[in-house]
Amino acid sequence: MGKLLIVGTVAFDAIETPFGKTDKILGGAATFIGLAASNFEIDSAIVSVVGDDFPDHHLNLLSNRKIDISAIEIVEGGKTFFWKGKYMNDLNVRETLDTQLNVLADFNPVVPEAFNTSEILMLGNLHPNVQLSVIDQMDKKPALTILDTMNFWMDNTPEELAAVIKKVDVITINDEEARQLSGEYSLVNAAEKIHQMGPEYVVIKKGEHGALLFHKENIFFAPALPLREIFDPTGAGDTFAGGFAGFLAATEDYSFENMKNAVIHGSNLASFSVEKFGTERMENLDKEEINSRLKQFKDLTQFDIKLA
Ligand code: AMP
Repeated sequence: MGKLLIVGTVAFDAIETPFGKTDKILGGAATFIGLAASNFEIDSAIVSVVGDDFPDHHLNLLSNRKIDISAIEIVEGGKTFFWKGKYMNDLNVRETLDTQLNVLADFNPVVPEAFNTSEILMLGNLHPNVQLSVIDQMDKKPALTILDTMNFWMDNTPEELAAVIKKVDVITINDEEARQLSGEYSLVNAAEKIHQMGPEYVVIKKGEHGALLFHKENIFFAPALPLREIFDPTGAGDTFAGGFAGFLAATEDYSFENMKNAVIHGSNLASFSVEKFGTERMENLDKEEINSRLKQFKDLTQFDIKLA
């Protein structure tokens, strides 16, 4: 059983989808990553920051899932990171309406001693300088460092982001961001260019069209499960990353073959996340429903074609 250290936002989100609207609910990249990863037998911790406007019950939700929250700093008199987004009728299209960094603006992360030799470091979406600081604080180079980021940081802090990308083994980004980062339309060419920037493995998330894993000449594709109910895609990418990282931490096998399974676990967990607003669906998932969907993934993708 490996240790997983997660860095990322713990946030308030306000979300609008064609099916409804919410005001200031629990969100944040590290929140979704942590909840997804908590479905595996691992030790995990989150490094993040919130203001004193952040309710205890949100933090308790994380610690009840056995996530170490001692490195989530609470800033007296500070305001928690806030993000507001709106999804169009095509749920793959999202517009960011507001991003308030608040306490994240001058956050100095401190890696807890118990986690500074973690096997996996999952750098969730947040300021690349915070991600770099965490990389530098590790006592031992993790077996795998995984980076998730988004267009906000490509637009606002491209140089800092490039410095982080250079240092990671795996990057997970969505298709639009992969195109922006590489300047290539073809995702195969985009992955190759991103690979040249540093990461040995490139995972490109394509929302309801699944995810691609690239490693040298190898490409693996995992579909997203076709669902009857899709309510809110917020956090699907982070949930995917959390499932991916959690499975790899639990198995401690970082081969391409095992990463294929990690991609399936990530896609599987993300399929739950989108069924309700925010983190709601991820708060009490049980093993049985997770396994039953894994079986659906297998049935969906297995075929027995005869090659001439
Ligand atoms: P996802 O839908 O997986 O891309 O992630 C959505 C989550 O990312 C939300 O819960 C937001 O709180 C968080 N988020 C949005 N913008 C940013 C940003 N610029 N930096 C870090 N986290 C963000």
